[in-house]
Amino acid sequence: MIKHLLKVGVLFLLFNANNVLAAKLALVIDDFGYRQHNEEQIISFSDNITIAVLPHSPNARRIATIAHEHGNDVIIHLPMAPLGKQPLEKDTLFPYMSELEVKRIVDDAVSRVPYAIGVNNHMGSLMTANLNGMHNVMKALSHYSMFFLDSKTIGKTQVKNAASEYNIAVIGRDVFLDDQQKEYAIARQFDLAIKMAQKNGHAIAIGHPHPQTVNVLRTKLANLPDDIELVKVSQLITTPRTKSKLKPTIKDIFEKYKKRFTDISNLNSLE
Ligand SMILES: [Zn+2]
Repeated sequence: MIKHLLKVGVLFLLFNANNVLAAKLALVIDDFGYRQHNEEQIISFSDNITIAVLPHSPNARRIATIAHEHGNDVIIHLPMAPLGKQPLEKDTLFPYMSELEVKRIVDDAVSRVPYAIGVNNHMGSLMTANLNGMHNVMKALSHYSMFFLDSKTIGKTQVKNAASEYNIAVIGRDVFLDDQQKEYAIARQFDLAIKMAQKNGHAIAIGHPHPQTVNVLRTKLANLPDDIELVKVSQLITTPRTKSKLKPTIKDIFEKYKKRFTDISNLNSLE
């Protein structure tokens, strides 16, 4: 009997070891609200893909609702001023704006993107590098319980510094998938994100609803390596981003499943 129980326990541990070993990959697709067909395809690939909706896009409310009902995380893709000259979304945030103006824009964005649980920046190489400007953004966001995903469009970002004063959780992008809109280049970036996840235990990749990105995601998501688990960004927020648990000891695995193992033992001894 004891031997049998041990066998069940060992098999159980081996079967579950893979889950403990899996590295977490989060995919965020930005600029939602303009390309409905591509966006609905992306949502259909997995409920673990996080979608970032532009508040003033024509389809913002509808696509946020579709994504939420499908089980995907929805975040606000908040437009922020870039350094370069690019076409701007309505209500793009600038460092010179008053606290009151920033609050109005943030409140309005929250009302336009239903079900949002977080925010990330659309562009923002000028805005996110400005501590005072980001203070205003974080202060406005502190009225909601939302996390901030720093798209990291500039090296000297002040997102973390500004957020820390308001106790807002911050997480950072690791890889951009489609700076180059060629399928081979997007595939290479996807593989890079996988490598980073395997190395660090987790990685966040950001892409856009370009047709090339849709094609690469379709193939890559159907062929994810066994040691990669696609997760929602919120799963990386609630789990503190501690050092990788890629190589847990037998003791780690045993501790994790000791209770369940005891439950199984109890169950069997009742027979
Ligand atoms: Zn964007």
